[in-house]
Amino acid sequence: MQDCLFCKIIAGQIPSELVYQDEQVYAFLDINPTNPGHILVVPKQHSTGLLDAEPVTLSTLMPVVQRLAVAMKKVTQADGLNVIQNEGAAAGQMIQHLHFHLVPRKIGDGFEAWHGKPYASVEMMKAMGEQIRSQLV
Ligand code: AMP
Ligand code: ZN
Repeated sequence: MQDCLFCKIIAGQIPSELVYQDEQVYAFLDINPTNPGHILVVPKQHSTGLLDAEPVTLSTLMPVVQRLAVAMKKVTQADGLNVIQNEGAAAGQMIQHLHFHLVPRKIGDGFEAWHGKPYASVEMMKAMGEQIRSQLV
């Protein structure tokens, strides 16, 4: 798509540190890593995010995420890793082309995961579950 940074990277119009590609997937190092070794895994097929992606695109992506996670964890000697996808500005999405972050994590690296808070009641949790089930298409 015109004016999409990641489409330009995939097309080779903007340089990137490529770590993997196949017919459907392109993966490269994040230019501003949370920790060194932070990878972005991107479908070549443009979609803005997860919600408008083709299911087949997602099914080809996840095995690549797993392979890259194994390689990256080994190289960085990470204790763990986060797989993150920011959907929409409210969630921190800056680039409007679907991508999954693969972030190596070390114990005590200071990037703490956020913590949730409990529902006000069990009934409210059950009602939320019911609403989501009713919207599944
Ligand atoms: P998000 O906030 O989920 O949209 O993440 C976008 C990510 O793209 C950020 O972590 C940026 O550091 C990264 N990024 C932006 N421009 C480039 C680039 N030219 N090469 C590599 N990574 C980039
Ligand atoms: Zn794009």
